[in-house]
Amino acid sequence: MCQDLVAAGLQRINVSMDTPVREKFAHITRRDALPQVLAGLVECEKYPSLRPIKVNAVAVRGFSEEDVLAFAELARRKPYAVRWIEFMPLDAEGQWDRDDVLTGSEIRAIIESRYPLVPIQDDRIGTAQRFAFADGAGEVGFINPVSEPFCETCNRVRLTADGQFRTCLFSRWETDLRSSLRAGASDAELEQLIREATWRKEMKHEINDPGFQRASRSMSQIGG
Ligand code: SF4
Repeated sequence: MCQDLVAAGLQRINVSMDTPVREKFAHITRRDALPQVLAGLVECEKYPSLRPIKVNAVAVRGFSEEDVLAFAELARRKPYAVRWIEFMPLDAEGQWDRDDVLTGSEIRAIIESRYPLVPIQDDRIGTAQRFAFADGAGEVGFINPVSEPFCETCNRVRLTADGQFRTCLFSRWETDLRSSLRAGASDAELEQLIREATWRKEMKHEINDPGFQRASRSMSQIGG
């Protein structure tokens, strides 16, 4: 579908690929689809206007360590910006455990045991700490919401596929824009709803605080 998506105006893409090992991929996604994902990425490479091609991997202790250098090599060989994301308590099964969090700094140390990295200065508000390989071949990034929260610079809000406006991944409340739309709300009325919700945007997640309560939806229901 890449050609059609680019023709329709797609300029950047994020692909979730938590492991480059076929059996492990099938285990965590419950489908043996790694070859299709890799074929899709190769197709994306053909369209230079489709950049960056980001490959996002969620790191889980005891699962991801052995994949770190393979992903680093992918980032060096291909025009992909590989991003490691710390495991957050947004899993549908509610099985997240703090001990499962493999931190970004631990992953970086594994990469640097073979490939030295240098930070990329980036003044935009972003979630990833970006690094280039010291020899100039590609880049990797680390999104460390558990070990190094960056909520104070967060400017993200989200609209779910079912029309609910969320002001934080960890929100326990939502603003129902779908019902307002279906009731014939004007653009100005929708804007007002969005403004009011955004004024109440959460200061931070509370993963590291006592009494942390899970979000009202899991990540797959929010949509990333
Ligand atoms: S405020 Fe919420 S959405 Fe923003 S970085 Fe913090 S946890 Fe993530």
